[in-house]
Amino acid sequence: MRAIQGPSPSSSPLQGEGKGARSKRKSGRVFLVGAGPGAFDLITLRGADVLSRADVVIYDNLVSRELIRLAPARAELIYAGKRGGSEKIIEQSELNAMLIAHARKGRVVVRLKGGDPFIFARGGEEAESLARARVEFEVVPGVTSAIAGPAFAGVPLTHREHGSFVALVTGHEDESKGASAVPWDDLVAAARHGGTLVILMATARMRATLERILAAGLPAETPAVAVQWATTAAQKTVSATLASLADASAREGIGAPAVIVVGELAGLREHLKWVERTPLFGRTIVVTRARAAASEFATALRRLGAEVVEFPTIETAPPRSYAALDRAIKRLHSFDWIIFTSATGVESFIERMKSRGSDIRRLGRASIAAIGPATASRLADYALQVAAVPDEYRAEEIVSAIGTRQIRSKRFLIPRAEVAREALPEILRERGAKEVVVAPAYRTIKPKGAQIARMRELIASGAIDLVTFTSSSTVTNFCELLGTSGKGVRAAAIGPITAATAQQREFEVIVQPREYTIEALTEAIREYFAEAK
Ligand code: SAH
Repeated sequence: MRAIQGPSPSSSPLQGEGKGARSKRKSGRVFLVGAGPGAFDLITLRGADVLSRADVVIYDNLVSRELIRLAPARAELIYAGKRGGSEKIIEQSELNAMLIAHARKGRVVVRLKGGDPFIFARGGEEAESLARARVEFEVVPGVTSAIAGPAFAGVPLTHREHGSFVALVTGHEDESKGASAVPWDDLVAAARHGGTLVILMATARMRATLERILAAGLPAETPAVAVQWATTAAQKTVSATLASLADASAREGIGAPAVIVVGELAGLREHLKWVERTPLFGRTIVVTRARAAASEFATALRRLGAEVVEFPTIETAPPRSYAALDRAIKRLHSFDWIIFTSATGVESFIERMKSRGSDIRRLGRASIAAIGPATASRLADYALQVAAVPDEYRAEEIVSAIGTRQIRSKRFLIPRAEVAREALPEILRERGAKEVVVAPAYRTIKPKGAQIARMRELIASGAIDLVTFTSSSTVTNFCELLGTSGKGVRAAAIGPITAATAQQREFEVIVQPREYTIEALTEAIREYFAEAK
């Protein structure tokens, strides 16, 4: 075995250099990160990784707000405002100075930009100013809206037969106000030989831009498509021709942010449109589960085409006292049954056993029951098989799953949340159990730092199609965090108890699965919106 030694002349040169550099000056680093076009899961793995290590995040208007929560809770979040828009909040020069200043304090600075940082996003200017200041930087490319917009509209940008080049063009330049930076005549001449024009910042001057392209000689009947808010629930797409797109877009109310595609390939949308067919296309659904448990549910909904807003309403914390649980852990051998009523209960119990230096084999004598499949599956993660799971996932039903003869004169341990329904221990006692020990293993609390203002705004603007509740406490906490009732808000509830709580709080409960599982809830949501289509 090698002894662990302090720093010595023989320690690795790299290590020595690192230490030296650190003592001279803490050097931070700026990451110019592409956030992708809007959908939460269209950031790159590298982008998500960098974001999860950020000390400072400076983000733009078009960045998905869902992404920002990938940053650590301690990270400083700075909104840089709408670039090029009217509500310019931070000037570019100020922003450059800010990037440099934060990096010089030794921080990991993430400059998060919509789409790709080097496509019409001033990423180039920011990189230049960092290079001049000798601040280290890295670029993490993103999925640009110039690529994602057409993709989500069902428009391939190249094609072996008709489409051998793509031009990404700004529609923002005004030729009449001096020489245009966009050589429209040359672009159109080339496009006539098979090419696709993708125009960003396209809406404010859409009519003028399309007329300019017509004037340069592209046929009026060339297919053209406009796609607004691509990859989000608000995506809206209009198909027309070069001559008719401006009118068609005006009719449909297409505004910024939108991308326009002009060229023969835009005609393929009619065959290739696909997002509109995903079952939850255009739906924005709120997931209120605890952060740790939410991602599977959120991913399943996204897979069906929904835009998901995570708004965790509960967080797990240690119980106020472990005394009861610790006493129970010391005498595990004396229990006949251990009943788990949640997956979190399983985790908290096993974690507490570990931290008390207890051994899993001490569970050996007891039979184990779980309130439902998710709890049973978490037990199975620890190779603990359950002897009983009820068909109906309610406290009352677990008693019949265990069987009356198994209850009389038996000792029960129920490790669970600090505050919980009393039904289960009461029924066990009524049926003649010799002892029922209820041991708080965790406590649920309202999370700090919830994006309350954002959620209020989303609800007020009618952007939310459905709020999902997976327990009564998610309902109660949702209302308490927002300081409102559920009036006018449509909800999905996992089971009858949750549904009753939601109704008491005036939600309109429109989805309730027959089975009380996340899978069944997801399926019921899919069915509900399929019928609504
Ligand atoms: N760097 C960004 C572009 C910034 S310029 C990128 O690579 O996507 C802003 C323009 O991008 C908008 O005017 C619009 O043309 C386009 N845009 C950004 N997000 C969009 C979206 N979700 N749908 C359609 N167009 C979008």
